[in-house]
Amino acid sequence: MAVQGLYALQNGFLGAERSLLFYGEYSEAAVQIPIACWLIRTASGVVLFDTGVSPRAVPGLTRNNPLARFTEDDLLVHRLDALGLETGNVDVVVLSHLHYDHAGGAELFPTSELVVQRDEYAYAHHPAPFFAPFYYRKNFDLPNHRWRLLDGDTELAPGLTVLRTDGHTPGHQSLLVELPESGPVLLTGDACYTLEHVEGERVPGVVWNPSLAYHSLKRLKTLARLTGARIFPGHDPVFWQSAKQSPDPYR
Ligand SMILES: [Zn+2]
Repeated sequence: MAVQGLYALQNGFLGAERSLLFYGEYSEAAVQIPIACWLIRTASGVVLFDTGVSPRAVPGLTRNNPLARFTEDDLLVHRLDALGLETGNVDVVVLSHLHYDHAGGAELFPTSELVVQRDEYAYAHHPAPFFAPFYYRKNFDLPNHRWRLLDGDTELAPGLTVLRTDGHTPGHQSLLVELPESGPVLLTGDACYTLEHVEGERVPGVVWNPSLAYHSLKRLKTLARLTGARIFPGHDPVFWQSAKQSPDPYR
């Protein structure tokens, strides 16, 4: 087994109205949701899944979002530092999608391979007006970075498989991580915001195509059932409280 450990890296919190979290809900009640990045140590290198928000965006988010909370420790470079790593030690960065709370740190990795679905990369550069506020062009307009554009499911390394889970966005992807001791984990990204989404088959409120998002949710559920994988959702405050936080690893 090539995967050695999985680390949950907290990148801060944002407030989100229930109408943004659950498709079809109109409640303005806000919930504080975690911004999560995940680091995977493998026999052949270090892989990061998502990069959180850009440090540049934090003052604006804090100003406009009363539930936003970002500490110094939450900065991705500090989370990496706590693991004895610098950005240059990260070999591969898998981006679930290019929304600002996932691709914000991509520019920190000029020597890493940045892995994203080709459809996501194309759409992010020319989003429809209704979806444009979620894509900050500065985050991914990085022509000198090493982009690897995928077309669908891809095995990145033994025990590490990218799964196409579009719907939230046109080219969303999740990551199946096969841990040596505790078995497989599905890092869903925003294909599944919370465990409530998977249990109730609830589509995210922020969504490009709700039918595809629904298919992806069911696909993740099926894969979890067939492989025995645990689902680690993208923005679940309850899950996050009980998640093992870096520097302690899941093994
Ligand atoms: Zn998100």
